[in-house]
Formats: sequence, C-alpha cells, structure tokens
Amino acid sequence: MKINFNAGPSILPQAVKKQLAESIINLEGKGISLLELSHRSTLFYNIRDELIEKTRVLLNIPSTHEVLYLQGGGRLQFAQIPMNFLNKNNTAAFINTGYWANKACQYARNYGNAEIVFSAEKFQYHSLEELSTCSFLYPQNKFTYLQCTSNNTIYGTQLHTFPRTNVPLICDMSSDIFSRPISFSDFSLCFACAQKNIAPAGLSLVIIHNDFLKNIKTNIPPVFNYQHLIQNQSAYNTPPIFNMYAALLTLRWLETQGGIANIEKKNTARAQLLYNEIERNSLFTLPVRKEDRSNMNICFNAISENIQSAFLDYCTQQNIVGLEGHSTIGGFRASNYNAQTNENIYYLIGVMQQAEKIISF
Ligand SMILES: *Cc1c(COP(=O)(O)O)cnc(C)c1O
Repeated sequence: MKINFNAGPSILPQAVKKQLAESIINLEGKGISLLELSHRSTLFYNIRDELIEKTRVLLNIPSTHEVLYLQGGGRLQFAQIPMNFLNKNNTAAFINTGYWANKACQYARNYGNAEIVFSAEKFQYHSLEELSTCSFLYPQNKFTYLQCTSNNTIYGTQLHTFPRTNVPLICDMSSDIFSRPISFSDFSLCFACAQKNIAPAGLSLVIIHNDFLKNIKTNIPPVFNYQHLIQNQSAYNTPPIFNMYAALLTLRWLETQGGIANIEKKNTARAQLLYNEIERNSLFTLPVRKEDRSNMNICFNAISENIQSAFLDYCTQQNIVGLEGHSTIGGFRASNYNAQTNENIYYLIGVMQQAEKIISF
C-alpha cells in the first residue's frame, strides 16, 4: 500500500476501513448491506443517533448547541451560512488567513456585504503574529457575524487561540475538527467538511448555537434551512448514510484512542518529529512562523527547484503519495490528521534522510 500524506480526502484509520468494507456486505451482522439501508429504518436512526451523541460527547458540545450532519462539503457551507444569516444590506466580517477564508468571503458576497477585517496576506499567510494582537470588538450591529478558519490547510498555519469578539463567531474547522479540544461555547456556528478528519467526502458537520438559529432569514428552501434540518434531525431528505456510518466508525475509533485530549497529544508528538527533521535536514526550509505551525498540515520547501523535483521523484519511487503542496503555492505538504501513524511519519523522515545523502546540491 502507498504511504498516504494526502490533504483531503485523506488517510482513515485502518480499523475504520476494515469495518466499513465488511458493512457493505453485511452491516454489523444484521443481514443487510449498508448501501441498501433505508433512511427510514431503525438501523439508520440508531446510526444517526449514536453519531450525533458521540460527536457531542467527544467534542464536549454544550447543550446550548445543536449538532447537524449534512450533505456536501466545505464550500456548500460557505454558501449556506450567508444564505441563512446574511441579509442584503448587512455585512459579514472575515479573517483572511489564506485561501479558504478568502473563498468563504467571496461566497458571502452573493448574499450581502462581506468585509475582510484582518489579512495575513502581506506575510504570504506564513505568520499569524498580528492576529493575536488584533481586537475584533465592534459597535453594535456593525457585523452580522465574524468568520475565521481554525486551520489553514494550504499554508500549514493553525489558530492556537481564537479571536475575541462581541459579534457571533463562526469558524471553518474543516481540517482540524476532532484533532484538539475546543471550547464550542465561544462559537455561534462551527462547520467542517468530513474528508480531512472524519469520513469520505460528501458529508459535513455543523454545530450551531440555539440563540444564533433565531436569526435565520425566511424564504430559504427547506433543504438549506438549518432550523428545518435540525427539526428533522439530519434526515430531512435522504442523507449520505454510507458517509455517516463511516463517520460513526471514526468516532468509535477516536474513543479507543482515549478521546480528543489524547489524540491531540499524539498529533502534536508526530508533528514535532517531522518539524524537527525539516529543521535539521539541509535540503529543506520551513516557511511558517514557529508559533503558528499546524499540527495537521506540515508545509515545507526544498532549497532549490532541482531538489524540489528530485525529492518528489524519490518519494514517488519510495511509494509515498500526496506530498505535493497545494497547486496554488507548490512546495511540500505532509498531512498529519488523526489517522496518520507514527510508522508513516518515521518512514517519511527516513526517506528525507536518505534523500539528503543521495541528492546533490
Ligand atoms: C478542504 C477545505 C475546504 C473545502 O472543502 P470542499 O468540501 O472541497 O468544498 C474548506 N475549508 C477548509 C479549511 C478546508 O481545508
């Protein structure tokens, strides 16, 4: 098998894949295929209920917040949020820490005004230093909400503290949900597409504060209306049952790993191993400011174009996939999501050390 560092869709735990494969033929010995299950069956309702319950428990979601699993990915939420909450004459605020934050802002402009109130662009998104000293306190009603991105999948930066603000705070947690403890009571809405840390693509998780739900606009088709979707407990229309079951298996696996505080320790330890090697290895440089480094997406560059392509070729020979950086910035990116293993990280480090010996400057 390939050694997989893809940024998304990305590695899933081996145990999850095995059980998922079995469930396609016979779901937990119930004599029916997961792919043929009715979404109006008790078996499905049990999967859905356990998935939502485990999400609440693992993430320690307060009773003030609702949990939804929906179809579609991150971009669908970029649209669905302003569709539900942003009026034509109102303004949403965005913290631009890179590609995805920027995209979300553009999507909001289809529904109302959107303003970037902070941008890390002048540091090529490699430093979030200024963000920690920024204040996001506003006159009443200036902004409908403030949206940030917890982990910047493409640039390899992560918010280690969240902005303090007096307007409803929204966060795109697509690439680090379930990777570290988060205080959800600080947020009005959080969302994450599944394909980084939860399940295959086609599913997303949305966590919404009850008070914020009261601000939903009228005249939204029911399939996009968060309130309506909550009333129907994530099964208003035919839900993506396969993905939801995959998500449930991932959460059961997370429990066996000792929950979120423990998975964070493991993620940090693996990330540290790789960051240490990148810093040590004479072939590579690390563009991201140390304090802002992501534990999930570890971005680095080769010291020259030649070494860039030589190392990539060498990795391909060594069975490694998914190490290329995002097409917009190049370089390398090793994704270190929850399901990544020590074994794979040590393997990559070994390949980097071998490359240092055989690739000439
Ligand atoms: C991957 C990703 C998205 C986009 O997800 P799609 O499902 O492809 O639309 C959005 N935000 C972040 C932070 C991501 O990492």
